Amino acid sequence: MIQPSLHLYNTLTRQKEVFKPITNKEVGLYSCGPTVYNYAHIGNMRSFLLSDIVKRTLKWNGFKVKQVINITDVGHLTDDGDFGEDKIEQEAKASGQTVEELTKPFIDQFHADLKRLHIDTASTLFPQATNYITQQIALIEKLINLGFTYQTEDGIYFDITKYPRYTELGKLNLKGHTEDSIRNQASDKKHPADFALWKFSLSDSNRLQEWPSPWGVGFPGWHIECSAMSMDILGAHFDIHTGGEDHIPIHHTNERAQSESATGKPFVNFWLHNAFMSTDGNKMSKSTGNFFTVSDLINLNFPALALRYLFLSAHYRSPLNFSLESLTAAKTALLKINHTIFDLPLNGNINQNFLTEFTTSLNDDLNTAKALATVYKVLDSSLSPADKRATIGKFDEVLAILDKNLITQTDPIPDEIMILAENRQTARQKANWTEADKFRQEIELKGYTISDTSDGNFIVSKIS
Ligand code: AMP
Ligand code: ZN
Repeated sequence: MIQPSLHLYNTLTRQKEVFKPITNKEVGLYSCGPTVYNYAHIGNMRSFLLSDIVKRTLKWNGFKVKQVINITDVGHLTDDGDFGEDKIEQEAKASGQTVEELTKPFIDQFHADLKRLHIDTASTLFPQATNYITQQIALIEKLINLGFTYQTEDGIYFDITKYPRYTELGKLNLKGHTEDSIRNQASDKKHPADFALWKFSLSDSNRLQEWPSPWGVGFPGWHIECSAMSMDILGAHFDIHTGGEDHIPIHHTNERAQSESATGKPFVNFWLHNAFMSTDGNKMSKSTGNFFTVSDLINLNFPALALRYLFLSAHYRSPLNFSLESLTAAKTALLKINHTIFDLPLNGNINQNFLTEFTTSLNDDLNTAKALATVYKVLDSSLSPADKRATIGKFDEVLAILDKNLITQTDPIPDEIMILAENRQTARQKANWTEADKFRQEIELKGYTISDTSDGNFIVSKIS
């Protein structure tokens, strides 16, 4: 049977293109990782889920993949550009910790969350920006020697007028960009979109992280980190780069500009970007504190895989509004599928027609929502129970939503109770204590208890 070839939407060309690897050996895949001054939130996790689906779909299509997800532990300033403070420095100083003390728990938790979401990290490399300072300095030196930079009082800057394709990736209107950013003009840059490759430590500042360089003590810009790490590990020209859509106009545009200027080669063939996930219509972001983590969801009695299921049920390029109601629906569907599948007998055959249907959806720019619908078609079909299990088991190489632990766990909290708990939470947020109490009593009457956590969330459990 003819398999449809893999098509991916390339932000660079704004169209779906047939994916062709640069070499037959291995596909290079780089994803911008978390900035570890706080826990990665579930919005961040959407970007790592995209990376996971890309990797699993490439493998599904028979490609070998070399995947890199970096850890940003220096240089990411509070405004994504050259303005503001280094997020890591700011947080470490505020909490009186060393950078390592600050970042280690967030890095450890990040790895734990990837595991809980069944993100395939087999052979994934997780380089840390501070371990690649030498490569970053070498890359900046190359750019200096080739005449792409200039020095100001506070650092070495990339001159975007020397790179004619600067506006391509973000479809930027630099005139607008100029007017917009002029207010935020950092130092004496020639053009507001010029960006720092290296920032000097101020003589009166007491930085926790700084390194000597040929131009003076300082620290790298955030964008140069990703260029240096990706090209060092994957080569100067690699296949796929992913990240959230917020990175298109600044971070990825700058990465591309400096990489292509330094090597004289194309940097990346396919740029893939996930749309944002919001909460109740508001941006979910670490800096505003408006977010849930995977651990928060687990405390609310959701299995982490319910979040994976929720992500899969929407297209990665569609904005997703997160709510506990939609997560509850995802959890119910997830548990039902797991209960159904693990009850079916083993040793069946994979159905080729359904396999082709599944591949067609997946290869159409990773349409996981449609691929998920094929799971239900298989369950409703006239296939034998064993063939159903074999076929869906095969799909799970990409979906990764099956987990025996889910069916051995105690019964899930019924939706009705979760809704009462959320209503109580809403009443509490409005300081409507009488109404909140009523909801608590109703929950208890139905045999459940509710307890509040220090971070403002709640846990529902059965009265034993
Ligand atoms: P950061 O830790 O802020 O550097 O972000 C890590 C990754 O998460 C990047 O690819 C961001 O673009 C992505 N990201 C951040 N916030 C969201 C969100 N609310 N929804 C989806 N992706 C996000
Ligand atoms: Zn990056």
